[in-house]
Amino acid sequence: MTVWYSVDAKLVEPVTMSSGNHSRNQAAAHPFLTGSALRGSLAARWLREQHHVRSGRRPTPIGDRATHKQFMNVFESGAVRFPFLYPPGPPPRLSLFECKATPDHPAADLVDPRHPVGTKVTCRECASALDRGVSGPDDRRRTHVRTRTAVGDDGVAAQALLYAQEELSAGRLFSGIMAVDDDVDLTAWLPVGNEVALRLGADTSTGGTTNVLVTPQSVGPHATTPAARREAWLAAGLATDVVVLTARSPLVLTDRWLRPADRFDHRILGDELGLTTVELVPFTLARSRPAGGWNPAAGIPKPGDVSLVEGSVAQVRVKDDLSDPQVMARLTQAEECGLGWRRAEGFGAVTLWSSIHLSEWRAP
Ligand SMILES: [Zn+2]
Repeated sequence: MTVWYSVDAKLVEPVTMSSGNHSRNQAAAHPFLTGSALRGSLAARWLREQHHVRSGRRPTPIGDRATHKQFMNVFESGAVRFPFLYPPGPPPRLSLFECKATPDHPAADLVDPRHPVGTKVTCRECASALDRGVSGPDDRRRTHVRTRTAVGDDGVAAQALLYAQEELSAGRLFSGIMAVDDDVDLTAWLPVGNEVALRLGADTSTGGTTNVLVTPQSVGPHATTPAARREAWLAAGLATDVVVLTARSPLVLTDRWLRPADRFDHRILGDELGLTTVELVPFTLARSRPAGGWNPAAGIPKPGDVSLVEGSVAQVRVKDDLSDPQVMARLTQAEECGLGWRRAEGFGAVTLWSSIHLSEWRAP
C-alpha cells in the first residue's frame, strides 16, 4: 500500500536548478525542482540535526546500525519517492498540438482516439496544419539570468567573458506528490506538517533558500482507478488491447542489457508493467534529456542517465486480457510504484489511461 504526502515549495531566494545544458559561458535551468534536489536537501537537514554534519568539520558516519538502515530505507531505497516539483498549471503534454495559423484556436491532443485513424489531424476551426504546442508551463519570463565573470580553461577569471546562469525567480511556487510505502514511519526523518527552510539547487552559498511544507493527504495523484479511466478511453474508441501510459515525471528506463532507452520500447514497457506486449501503436511520443545531477556529500557528479521527459506518452498493444481484475490490479500497483530507475528521486511517475488526453476534444 502507498500513502501520499503533498510537497509545497516557495522560493525565498532565486534557485539554480542546473539542467546540465551549458556551454562555456551560459547555463540553462530546469523550469522545475528535481526530486534529487529535494531528497538531498531533506537528507542533509536530518544529518545536520543529528550533528553528523557540522560546518567546518568532517562529516561523521551514522554509527548506530539500525538507524543507518532506516536512513537508507527512507532516503535511498525507493520506499519514499521524493517527487519532482512543478509550477502550478496543467502538466506538460507532448501530444498537445496547436493551430499553426492562429494559436488561439482549440488545441488537439493527437493521442485522443476520436481523431480518425489514417488521416492528418488539422485545426478544427480553420483546417490549418498543427504544430507542437507549448507542452508545459511557458514560464521563461519568471526565470531570470545572473551574469558573472566566466572562468577560463586555466581556472582563473577569463577577461571580457561573462557567464550567464539562469535561475528560478524568488517568490515562485512549486508542488508535487510524494509516494511512501505505508510501512515507513516518516515522523523522525522529515518535517511533516512543519514548514522548513531548505537550501535547494546549486550555489547554495548565495541563494537557494526555499520554504518547503510536507503534509499528509488522503488521495494520491489519481482520484480514479486505471480501470475507471480505461472505461472512458474505450467509450472514446480506444482498442480493448491497448495500454496508454503518460509520464508525469521523467522516466529512466533501460532494457535487459541495461542500455538506456531514449524512446519508448514495447519490450521495456512489458517488463516494467508485467505484461506481454506486442508493439507500440500511434501515437507514441517521447523526447529525451540527460538526467545527471550532483552529489554534494561526495562532491562528485552523479552518473549520467538518459530520461524520457515528463509529458511523453506511449500506447502499447498487449496480449493480456485487460478486463481481467488481476491484470488491472498489477497495473494499478505499477502506477502507484512508478517505472524504471531512480524512483527514490521521483523519476518514473506515470498515469495509465490519463483522462487529460481526452480533454481537448470538441465535436466537429
Ligand atoms: Zn486554426
